[in-house]
Amino acid sequence: MDCLFCKIIAGDIPSKKAYEDNDMLAFYDIAPQAKVHILVIPKEHIPSIDGLNTDNASVVAKIFSKIPEIAREAGITNGYRIVSNCGDDACQTVKHLHFHILGGEPLSEKMA
Ligand code: 5GP
Ligand code: ZN
Repeated sequence: MDCLFCKIIAGDIPSKKAYEDNDMLAFYDIAPQAKVHILVIPKEHIPSIDGLNTDNASVVAKIFSKIPEIAREAGITNGYRIVSNCGDDACQTVKHLHFHILGGEPLSEKMA
């Protein structure tokens, strides 16, 4: 499958890893939009939030239960924002489900 994030999971494209286990990979965004900007992705290829269903959604709970540790280990101490762009209007550019962790500095009051 021609998916950038599947290639990162496979190690075909290098990334700066923040966390990895059997279900997920966290790595630093190549074009950070905050002082700390990490992407957390399931290892299973799910195109976006729109691709979630009762059979595959348990990985989202696993990701969210690991995010506090990933943020802490990355040095975030004063809060963070989780973003998941879903579809064209939200400017999703990589069609593999991912959650942005943004933090390390005060963020914009605007969300959109
Ligand atoms: P989206 O716009 O789909 O919500 O987020 C995709 C993110 O992937 C963007 O923030 C972009 O900077 C990041 N990205 C795109 N290509 C690469 C890459 O090759 N390596 C890493 N680490 N991040 C990437
Ligand atoms: Zn993929």
